[in-house]
Amino acid sequence: MSTSFQQHKTGDLHFLKRLNRSAILELVRRTPGLTRADIASQAQLTKATVGAGVQSLLKQGWLSEGELQKSSGGRPGRSLYLNERHYAMLGAEVGVHGLRLVACTLSGQRLASHHEPLVPTTPEATAELLAGLLRQLMAAPKVADRHCLGVGVALPGPVAPGQPLLRLAPNLGWRDVRFLDLLRPHLPRQDGVWLMDNEANSAAFGELYFRTGTIPDSLVYVSAGTGIGSGMVEGTHPPLISRGLQGLAGEIGHTVLQPGGLYCHCGNRGCAETLVSGWSLRAALGIAEDESLIDALLPRLQDEGVQRTLRRAGEALGTLLLNLHHTQNPSEIVLGGSLVQLGAPLLDPALAYFKANQNRLLGTTQQVPLRVIEDATFIAARGAAAQVLASVIHGPSDLL
Ligand SMILES: [Zn+2]
Repeated sequence: MSTSFQQHKTGDLHFLKRLNRSAILELVRRTPGLTRADIASQAQLTKATVGAGVQSLLKQGWLSEGELQKSSGGRPGRSLYLNERHYAMLGAEVGVHGLRLVACTLSGQRLASHHEPLVPTTPEATAELLAGLLRQLMAAPKVADRHCLGVGVALPGPVAPGQPLLRLAPNLGWRDVRFLDLLRPHLPRQDGVWLMDNEANSAAFGELYFRTGTIPDSLVYVSAGTGIGSGMVEGTHPPLISRGLQGLAGEIGHTVLQPGGLYCHCGNRGCAETLVSGWSLRAALGIAEDESLIDALLPRLQDEGVQRTLRRAGEALGTLLLNLHHTQNPSEIVLGGSLVQLGAPLLDPALAYFKANQNRLLGTTQQVPLRVIEDATFIAARGAAAQVLASVIHGPSDLL
């Protein structure tokens, strides 16, 4: 009995030290420049515990020390920052028309990236191609000498909660794909965290997680590309993603805006994607699958037919934004995805509709912050990398 008690105590101690390191790292991550004394007071830990935890994190290359800071009482202390030189996380997005990869530092700074345009193909061929590109990224000069914490993959469809299973990617024609099982055999030497998620969830997570200073309570990311989806995150320790029973939470592209309308790739009729999505714009304006939608449309933005189609798509986008505001009521909405590059002809009607109608219910004048990301190419991939870091800091891995 005494032996098992002893083992339990040792385990607890290890767990507690890890928990303290995780709390310290999390505080410095969100508020760079804190001193040991600041951390002790904010985390309600003793100075000795913080001192030991910080020492260990400095030694392992998680933190670095900066300048001496004056403190209100006692001795001045050194400010602490994330160590940007030792670790890297890899993130990749499998888009319907391309693969996007990034390697980034602990604070989300991009070290290397790659965008590979792609005509949709099978999960197996896509995984093999992505693995080759990930190998190249890991060999990039700024990445090669770092310890890689893991790989996160963002995918264009709902992912089963708690399982690495892509339920469906309607715009690729994939169903029930265990994508990591296809990818990992091509990268046998990559250990650490492996994870996958829906691309809008990853993007939303990264947009909140890499924020420092004033952090919104909740954030919705709307991804407007070949399909249209959204992800919502809330809280900070770490941010939680709304998933729903089957991983369908946030699938705004398949909310019905026109009952009995056009057929959607999902099999239902009148989904939002039949009005606003890359694929419906291609169909309406006669743009082939192997052409870049944006390159094909930018020279035609003055055409009356193009303007009419984009205005109608923009109004549908505005309706989706308003519906998100009323169903999720996030502190901030971020709009990204390749369609944003179409600019005013699409966005003006969407934003005008959202602005004009968001306060009718409560009769207030408060505007919900809505940020448009003009170049969202690597947002989901970077978000998947953020999920890798969060998994190391908060998850069961022994990397920390
Ligand atoms: Zn649909």
